[in-house]
Amino acid sequence: MMDAAQHAPNWFERTDDGGAGCYVHLPFCDRICPYCDFAVVSYRAALVDRYVEALVAEIERSKANDDFPSSQTHALQTLYFGGGTPSALPPAALGRVTRALFERFDTSPGSIEFTLEANPSRNVEDVGMWLEMGVNRLSIGVQSFDDGELHRLGRSHDAKDAATFVRAARTAGFANISLDVIAGVPGQTRESLRRSLAAALELEPTHLSVYALTIESGTPYERWHRRDASAFPNDDAVASLLESAHETLARAGFVHYEISNFARPGFASAHNYGYWRQRECFAFGLSAAGYRDGTRYVNLRALDAYCAAVERGASPAQSREHLDGAARAGEAAMLALRTSQGIDYADFARRFAIDARTAWARASRKCMAAGLLEVDERGMRLTSAGRLLANTVCAEFLEPANHAVAVTP
Ligand code: SF4
Repeated sequence: MMDAAQHAPNWFERTDDGGAGCYVHLPFCDRICPYCDFAVVSYRAALVDRYVEALVAEIERSKANDDFPSSQTHALQTLYFGGGTPSALPPAALGRVTRALFERFDTSPGSIEFTLEANPSRNVEDVGMWLEMGVNRLSIGVQSFDDGELHRLGRSHDAKDAATFVRAARTAGFANISLDVIAGVPGQTRESLRRSLAAALELEPTHLSVYALTIESGTPYERWHRRDASAFPNDDAVASLLESAHETLARAGFVHYEISNFARPGFASAHNYGYWRQRECFAFGLSAAGYRDGTRYVNLRALDAYCAAVERGASPAQSREHLDGAARAGEAAMLALRTSQGIDYADFARRFAIDARTAWARASRKCMAAGLLEVDERGMRLTSAGRLLANTVCAEFLEPANHAVAVTP
């Protein structure tokens, strides 16, 4: 087996709280999957041209006319092209956006973790150009290696296409490859998920994301679910699928470092780690969500509205919310609990000058009694049962007690 650690730097260890990430949303997809609730647009060349113009303008303008001046000085640590299907864009369009970003942040290719989401349905011939652009991490949406499941997911690739795509990426020189797999597909069993994960592991990824399928309102899947809920694995069956994924991947040497994410040592996603650490995050493109100077903001979700706002020189932000100290600490606790590190008392004392034991005494007692949380002298983290009910646990931690004892960091 390839020793991937010899071929890629550990961006994760280079990421610290003083830097910033950048997310760029590229919403175009060849076809819209029936379960998808992301901000997506059917691919049309004319729309791509208009969107790329607007995106580059938003990026360039952000330097001279930035609403968050104090975060101007943060060095860029990670760049993430998500979507949508970023790999569907022609390399010339991706290159244009990338150049604008590297110029905007005074960054050079190869100095940061740069992830591109790719769909294995097409454009395998572009992988070499993505490398030349500075992309050094691919996140490939394989979703399953069972052709029946892929068909039910409405995907335009089959298992063979996915394997061919991953091998081509590796041959071209990508050492850091993440594969997405879905748990809870109609008709999926523990055995079919185990086979999909075995097929994924044969391709030697450095990282795997296993997402539980959620039924999003307004999607064709929601209508299917309403007509025939028995076609879908129920909550217990999904929990059992996720447990079996954890067992399979742990046996294969992957670290379960976040609820949905597994990595070979040294290959956790530095970009996502930044989200879970409340790192500053620039965001460009429609529906993109950023975090700057304690303010969360989200851009307009409709393509025409987003482009029109940028074209008339206005901000494409649709909403902004400034988090006060308590809200920041509450959010940080919820985000930290998603990770295997959990809430680290020393870290929270340093970042927020609070004693996390006092701040979340009631929440931690309640969750420990339910077997969802474990606590020791260093901090608190989810148990395996807690990982399956993470949203319930995290909701308990939203608000720190207002009598929380202040500590000197
Ligand atoms: S390829 Fe991904 S982003 Fe595009 S429609 Fe399907 S699930 Fe949504």
